[in-house]
Amino acid sequence: MDGTGSTDTPPVLILLGPPGAGKGTQARRLEERFGLVQLSTGDLLRAAVAAGTEAGRQAQAVMEAGGLVSDDIVLAILRDRLADPDTARGVILDGFPRTTAQAEALDALIAETGQTVDAAISLEVEDEAMVARVSGRFTCAGCGEGYHDAFKRPAQEGVCDGCGATAFKRRPDDTAETVRARLDAYHAETAPLAAFYDARGQLARVDAMGAIDDVTEALGALVAKARAA
Ligand code: AMP
Repeated sequence: MDGTGSTDTPPVLILLGPPGAGKGTQARRLEERFGLVQLSTGDLLRAAVAAGTEAGRQAQAVMEAGGLVSDDIVLAILRDRLADPDTARGVILDGFPRTTAQAEALDALIAETGQTVDAAISLEVEDEAMVARVSGRFTCAGCGEGYHDAFKRPAQEGVCDGCGATAFKRRPDDTAETVRARLDAYHAETAPLAAFYDARGQLARVDAMGAIDDVTEALGALVAKARAA
């Protein structure tokens, strides 16, 4: 990888991959390990929906249908979040960019602070496995720990392993039908981004079908390498 990111400016790393590839899970782990800030436009949009803001009201129906929210809305919430001081530690973007236009907008946004993208890492998975992964997942309402109906249930039924909370949440767009729409949007709009970053020498690919810890290991090595470049 010969990314143009410099060690003098805070790193900007991108995780690419379809819904269910593990972007959120892995971004949280990289955040802890490298002291970066995870920035998920999906989380920011869900917070806007929950808060009932104008942007949230406009985004809600599109999200529930599995489509892409307009660039105007997504870029505005991203710009706001990047203005928070903690992002000066460096960011790991999860779920953004999702289109080539967003990738170009990201370049312009971070250029304002002299930054460039350090690396885009694509989590490589198989679509059919993603439908099963996403439609069975749920999270602890207390600490956000992720679980799955078939692959990872709490050790004690109904109690979070991490914090002991007894309330759990499911995303309204994590139904099998909506996941298929989200996968279609991914292939039509987002998958071409791999070629976009590859042409700039910034793309790395990681097999993300294996165990979560193995994927974290592979990602950690790539991030360490990108930061040293
Ligand atoms: P995610 O949490 O990344 O799976 O995103 C959930 C939903 O939020 C997506 O299905 C889209 O409707 C919307 N969304 C998240 N990020 C973006 C983005 N960068 N551009 C457009 N829509 C987005």
